[in-house]
Amino acid sequence: MLVEFGRRKLFGVVLGVSLELGEDIDRSKLKPVLAVIDTEPVVRPELLDFLLELARYYLAPIGEVLRLALPALERSSVEDLQEQGVLGHAVEAVGRMVQYAVVQHAAIAPDEVSGQTLEVWQTLSSQTAMPISALEKQHKSARQAVKKLALLGLCTIERREQERGVTALEWSPDQRPTLTDPQARAVLALTDALDRRTSQAFLLDGVTASGKTEVYLHAAEHCLKQGRGAIVLVPEIALTPQLTARFRARLGDAIAIVHSGLAGKERLHMWKQLQSGSFKVAVGARSALFAPVAELALICVDEEHDGSFKQEEGVRYNARDMALLRAHRAGAVAVLGSATPSLSSEAAVRQGKMTRLKLPARANQKAVLPKVTVIDLKRVGAGPSGDRFLSLPLYRALERCLAAKEQAILFLNRRGFAPSLVCEGCGQFVQCPHCSVAMTLHRARGERLVCHYCDYTIARIGTCGRCGSDKLSDEGVGTERVEEQLQKSFPEARIGRLDRDVAAGVKSERVLARMRRGELDILVGTQMVTKGHDLPSVTLVGVLNADSALSLPDFRAAERCFHLLVQVAGRAGRGDKPGEVLIQTRQPEHPAVALAAQHDVAAFTEREMRERQELGYPPFSRLALIKIDAVDAALAEREATRLAALARSLASPAISILGPAPAPLARLRNRYRFRFMVRGNDRAALRKVLLGLARSKPRGDVRVAIDIDPLSML
Ligand code: ADP
Ligand code: ZN
Ligand code: ZN
Repeated sequence: MLVEFGRRKLFGVVLGVSLELGEDIDRSKLKPVLAVIDTEPVVRPELLDFLLELARYYLAPIGEVLRLALPALERSSVEDLQEQGVLGHAVEAVGRMVQYAVVQHAAIAPDEVSGQTLEVWQTLSSQTAMPISALEKQHKSARQAVKKLALLGLCTIERREQERGVTALEWSPDQRPTLTDPQARAVLALTDALDRRTSQAFLLDGVTASGKTEVYLHAAEHCLKQGRGAIVLVPEIALTPQLTARFRARLGDAIAIVHSGLAGKERLHMWKQLQSGSFKVAVGARSALFAPVAELALICVDEEHDGSFKQEEGVRYNARDMALLRAHRAGAVAVLGSATPSLSSEAAVRQGKMTRLKLPARANQKAVLPKVTVIDLKRVGAGPSGDRFLSLPLYRALERCLAAKEQAILFLNRRGFAPSLVCEGCGQFVQCPHCSVAMTLHRARGERLVCHYCDYTIARIGTCGRCGSDKLSDEGVGTERVEEQLQKSFPEARIGRLDRDVAAGVKSERVLARMRRGELDILVGTQMVTKGHDLPSVTLVGVLNADSALSLPDFRAAERCFHLLVQVAGRAGRGDKPGEVLIQTRQPEHPAVALAAQHDVAAFTEREMRERQELGYPPFSRLALIKIDAVDAALAEREATRLAALARSLASPAISILGPAPAPLARLRNRYRFRFMVRGNDRAALRKVLLGLARSKPRGDVRVAIDIDPLSML
């Protein structure tokens, strides 16, 4: 409904109605409701119950939590609503007609097509048809370009009903493999739980390419047979199209794709279809957890160990944790799948809260786990190209891979050309004026320096701000440099790059599609190349520097590094040809590296669990990180000290307060950052402290955030 709040008109959601008016309420100040927008409840009881519980758990305002679940209605201005037709009457979102550019069959661009027009043509001709609006997202002057192309007879402009969700993805018609025995056992356990209609949580503990997706598919299919619904969460938007296509091929069209990249009307469409029950399955990144799926029977979380399920702003929730909660309260089955289960899942299995389903081998009988070699960079020199980042063994492996016409993935956790620009005169590196970090040199699309934390960008500078020297050298290696150098070393190779600079949603899918079609020989990239992709022709994976992940000041650094290495190694040899993985490192003896090389998840888990227990870290305790920041450093520090003292005064002996201290990233976007940690095992005692902190009004212009079960310590 619409209400007047001060002078503003805002949305309200009715959570409850009381016929009695409290004594302390001044009747003269009450205002009438302006409009009732929905006559049916917008949030069904199951979802509302879950949202209330989530708000309670994270100490988050229920209003903000509700907005997570009502994405279609999030625009708060009344005009917007009228335009969308939400106010007062039913919503029309189905069948929106948009202009498409349609490629003429076998058209080849003549020489006169150049510049922007050529770029647009290249994008367009990689597909059969595209909405002009989608082209405009990638090329500013797409509309004019399309008109030109149409005049030349290369394409036509047509009005068509907008296709929703997946664009341009080849997925061969569904082939239903015969399940392997472990898959069949896992599916049976799940369908059995679904038939019993009780809530139960499972850990699908399956090595990379063991066919976990096939298990989700079978479980979802079973739900549909029961006339009930399912949610499938995946970590990255870039992964959604491939997975969605697989679900679609198997389960039919009644699947909603939910992610934050959807435009307002598309989201509203999805939301309505789910709400009404005509779509029964929602697939998407973390926000899909709030999809209004009717008769929810199943929630799958793919790659459950992945950090991107945690939202790091606004309501700081973890979709993996909350999937368990929603499933539990809805009486649904939860399946958390991973080749490298999080320690929380491991602990839950040991406590009997979760049932482990194991897929010990790759599904395709011919695909075995790749052979992994660790290369000690302290001992092994550079290959013939002289590139520091490419050791001789990796160089040779690339040569072999290219000669055999197979594909390689090279992983480096740094985008840009070089991580810093250092003055040879005084040793000073160019720092972001707003943050306490070095600026990264980028070269693609012009030389510039970019802060990877706040995106502040300047043209590359020629002289040192401190000593005036003009000798500035770029230090270190980023993905752009790797791409450039590789092209010099292997001029024949077709090399692609995948990182956040390339990857606005659709584009990353295009890079992956080229890889899948065999139009690329080598793919260089950041974490984005490590996740979930099923690229059967990739036989070589190179990790250029395993150490960068280990150096972070975070008790989870080893766990993350291990996950990363196992996952990236898992991209190799998924097809019929065996795979090979080379990990370059200066710490070959580090357990995260050595055990990843042996695919020994159990040994690593065991070791890490022991360590966590000794140090009293999760999953053997609960944590909350209290983050305080202000433009004025002294003010931030004072407030941090005050709140930490308050926390100590509220804490029982079972709770420990660690800090305050400056954050590892001490300054970000002009704000100085401090933090302290509240740790304990006793839920109630912990909650008492956190509630006390939440209720304490900050003094001065300071921001305070309570991050419950934090994942990032930066
Ligand atoms: P995961 O999600 O465990 O990494 P996927 O579900 O992507 O693995 O499966 C890996 C590959 O194995 C895919 O190409 C898939 O089509 C194939 N696959 C899955 N199950 C089977 C099976 N039972 N028999 C043969 N191939 C299978
Ligand atoms: Zn200098
Ligand atoms: Zn910055």
